[in-house]
Amino acid sequence: MAKRLENKVAVVTGASRGIGRASALALADEGAHVVVAARTADDLDSLAREIETRGVKALPVAGDLSQAADVNRLAEAAEGTFGRVDILVNNAGVGKFGTLAELSVEEYDWMMNANMRATFLCTKAFLPGMLEREEGWVVFVGSVAGLNGLPNETVYCASKHAQYGFARALDHETRPHNVKVTYLAPGGVDTYFAFGTGRTEGDPKLKEYLDSEDVAQALIFAVTQPPKSRVFLIGMRPMREPL
Ligand code: NAP
Repeated sequence: MAKRLENKVAVVTGASRGIGRASALALADEGAHVVVAARTADDLDSLAREIETRGVKALPVAGDLSQAADVNRLAEAAEGTFGRVDILVNNAGVGKFGTLAELSVEEYDWMMNANMRATFLCTKAFLPGMLEREEGWVVFVGSVAGLNGLPNETVYCASKHAQYGFARALDHETRPHNVKVTYLAPGGVDTYFAFGTGRTEGDPKLKEYLDSEDVAQALIFAVTQPPKSRVFLIGMRPMREPL
């Protein structure tokens, strides 16, 4: 039986670990070729080898996606290798928790750049081809912090709300051209996220969180909708987390 994303080409940002890694593997399982991007080249190389065991192609591209030059290099590599990109997963992101008094200007720039600036740069790089071909998917791995104000998360919430506003506005531009936008809003996910910046590796509480694969399956749901349907917002919470 044909796989649902056979011959599609996906770019996943922040794919070196966590939700991005699980998303890249889930897309490969559905038959997509996958371009994987993040800063840690070794992790991308081993992921690319694992993706290729699924019988699809993989392209690892290392770079800091908050930097325009690195995003341009990613776009050139992806389009040079595969000729087009159908699915963009804006997943790369960082977070630090703490009161406003505990957050520095440098930490503000770090979160806004990795979460929003990288989203802006990558979407700007890959959207034109989708609009031209009248087909595409732009998925944002946002957060419940993009929909609600949460304690000790002022700047992280601001960065994720920024992505949400960007996604909502973008949907108006892309829908007439058959390009579907989805904002995923998970609660806690058991990844490396915020280790040393608000979470502690090995904390037993993490085991109650969603797994990266749970979020990856929500992404697959979004990009395998029938032609007339688009799923704009997916809110997900671990069973132990209140709304
Ligand atoms: P993670 O395991 O720490 O992964 C974050 C990924 O982003 C890594 O691959 C990291 O790779 C990459 N990254 C960070 N800054 C980057 C930059 N400037 N350029 C390129 N890549 C960069 O955390 P995760 O939980 O999977 O996070 C993925 C997304 O999910 C984030 O947007 C996060 O906000 C969101 N999210 C997480 C949770 C949670 O509880 N974990 C909940 C809701 C939403 P390198 O370090 O190799 O660059």
